[in-house]
Amino acid sequence: MRHPQKLNPHLWYNEPGELNDGPRCYCKPEYQVGPSHCKYEGETAIPKCDPHSNNPNKLHHYRICVLPNTNYSAKQPSVIMYKNLKYEFEGFGLLSHYKLDDLPPCKFHRYNIFYKVHLVPEPLPPNFTVRSLDLLSDFVMYELLELLDETLYPSGADEATSCRCFHLYPRFSRRGHDGALELLPAWAILQHLLDNSGLLIEPDCLDSVLRMSKEEWRNFIDQWRGQLITYPGKKPSTIRVDQVDRCSAAASAASSDGRDKPTYPYVIHITQVPLKFGWQAENTYRRTLKSYFREQYMIVFNPRVGAEQREKLQHLREKMRVVEEAPDKRREVTVEMSAEGFRRTGLRPDVTQFALLLPHFLSFCRLHRSISALESRIGYVFKDKSLFHQAMTHPSSIRSTLGLNSDHVLNSMLNCGPRLLEYGEVREIRQATRKHGLAYTVNVMSMLPSILEKKSPIFGNDRLEYLGDAVVELIVTTHLFYILPEVSEGHLDAFRQSLVMNAHLALLARRLGLHCYLQYAHGMDFYLDSTFMHAYSDAFEAFMAAVYLDGGLALANRIFADVMWGSDPSCLRVWCTPPPHPIQLEYPDGDRHLLPQHPKLKKLTRLERRIGMEFRHIRLLAQSLSYTRRFNQLTLGNNQRLEHLGDTLLKFVTTDYLFKHFPYHHEGHLSILRNTMANKYTQGQVCRDLGLTEFIIEDTPAAPSALLSLDADSKIFADVLESFVGAVFVDKDLTSG
Ligand SMILES: [Zn+2]
Ligand SMILES: [Zn+2]
Repeated sequence: MRHPQKLNPHLWYNEPGELNDGPRCYCKPEYQVGPSHCKYEGETAIPKCDPHSNNPNKLHHYRICVLPNTNYSAKQPSVIMYKNLKYEFEGFGLLSHYKLDDLPPCKFHRYNIFYKVHLVPEPLPPNFTVRSLDLLSDFVMYELLELLDETLYPSGADEATSCRCFHLYPRFSRRGHDGALELLPAWAILQHLLDNSGLLIEPDCLDSVLRMSKEEWRNFIDQWRGQLITYPGKKPSTIRVDQVDRCSAAASAASSDGRDKPTYPYVIHITQVPLKFGWQAENTYRRTLKSYFREQYMIVFNPRVGAEQREKLQHLREKMRVVEEAPDKRREVTVEMSAEGFRRTGLRPDVTQFALLLPHFLSFCRLHRSISALESRIGYVFKDKSLFHQAMTHPSSIRSTLGLNSDHVLNSMLNCGPRLLEYGEVREIRQATRKHGLAYTVNVMSMLPSILEKKSPIFGNDRLEYLGDAVVELIVTTHLFYILPEVSEGHLDAFRQSLVMNAHLALLARRLGLHCYLQYAHGMDFYLDSTFMHAYSDAFEAFMAAVYLDGGLALANRIFADVMWGSDPSCLRVWCTPPPHPIQLEYPDGDRHLLPQHPKLKKLTRLERRIGMEFRHIRLLAQSLSYTRRFNQLTLGNNQRLEHLGDTLLKFVTTDYLFKHFPYHHEGHLSILRNTMANKYTQGQVCRDLGLTEFIIEDTPAAPSALLSLDADSKIFADVLESFVGAVFVDKDLTSG
């Protein structure tokens, strides 16, 4: 942090490609893809706009809206007076080369508030040229806020070859008499910036400024307080003025230093030490805090507390206080600088606040646009693209800034952002992110299901991954069941495990190119191969859930087959055209003609009448009820394979229901619910309710079931229910979803 042009030792500034404490990216080259690395699939150079025109046939105009507007609607906004009318800053406008009408809201979390940013289409504003907009946005983003890692050009293209992805401009507006919104033309904003680019205090005015009466001085500095001022060439270039003093505290303490030259007034700026350099991050402090809590805990639960213990606690508290109050570790720092050389900008921190939102949002827009590359690869266009966005949102990305250098945002915010911000309730954030804690779990688990299917407000792809896990398992299990008719359930399970293991799913994710879309917290937590492997495999499962929810099971089946076997046509053919079940193969038109010869089968028609369903191949029903070790020519074996299939089917059906009707439950809570639904007792009871029990074909009919313990009994019944579900699935040919 040493720079010859450093403005002040306490101020942090932005260096390209650097965080405050080191390089920005530690990732291995193979992981340097996706939005976290500013790379968007399918982005190509954009034909340049005519800089001297508004390019009406090429550009789509949108207003960027933030909801709620807490912290984004300032009490004292930046104002431009134009023809004696007052125009206030209201955010940014965006001109895009492509339509963004189907952009879902971009969600992010800041100051304990969940924000949603979306675009509102508007007719093209009059009286502007693309060049004037670019000048304006470059001035704010690069000159003032120094977002040096931010590029608006498509990946792999630059200024020489392409137009920027978006043209941006700050909006200054007023309500006319008829209530209509009047936008200030870009050139008027440029004119305002030029008019306000003079020195804060001109050298020849210095004397009169220093001689102002108290009253005059107060009026004079009122206009500067809260303004952004800039010192071109310094690092950082721009700060917010919190106060201006004619005599600095430091100078008055040192009394006169003998110089005759009049001293410029002092600009005072109040800043904060970034959290990661504050005392909270100190190792010794954290250790002390931990032992302090432990000691406190011991005292609370100790009926007799000795003086020694109290003393120890006191000692730890003292130790912490020393660190907290050390002068070089204070959180808030007041910085004083001579006003000499500073220039005005005519802008206030509300512009900063909004502008620092843009990089994240623009990344989101570009990511959204790049989905079409994936869509053409999978041959499907998402109806609800927010599902895909959510599937690609790793829970860690709640802290991410989507490819943006997070420390740059932090530094610029401390230097030029509003001094005071409003913070939201922690509770709301917890509800969307928190998963643990007994009280929280009890609270969530007491919620009843919603009658209608409902979208969950929970952030991240965890829930989708939970559903996707069941979807993938269903797809794999059903296909293996059909294409490997001779293989026992144990081996089927082994095959399935090898296909659904994390490493394999991560491979499929890469093959699909999902790693180019995954959003995660780019940083030190995310660099191990295993972390990426799990994130990719979770993303794949979440993606399959998104596909299933958006386009149905048949589509999920097709996409899974393509990514799995796409490069091998013969395997793909085998996978996609499985033979019928052996029982179906024997009598393709059904086997009910066997009923008269086999009393055992005939007996089952009673069951069919009871459950109100007729099997085309009644021997499938017989097989599902064969809880036996012996091979039987009639049923072609026992119910074990059908049970293996049915187990997966039940898991999928319950997961699907829970996912859609318990929107406030995290995946862990859904799991608890699923275990209560899909255990041997519940399933055994369902089996009894369906009346399947009296038809079970067992090896030892001499030993009546009543003699078995309830546990073993339930296990058998639960298994039979599963195989029964499997038989229904096969007979009704539900493979297509
Ligand atoms: Zn990286
Ligand atoms: Zn353009």
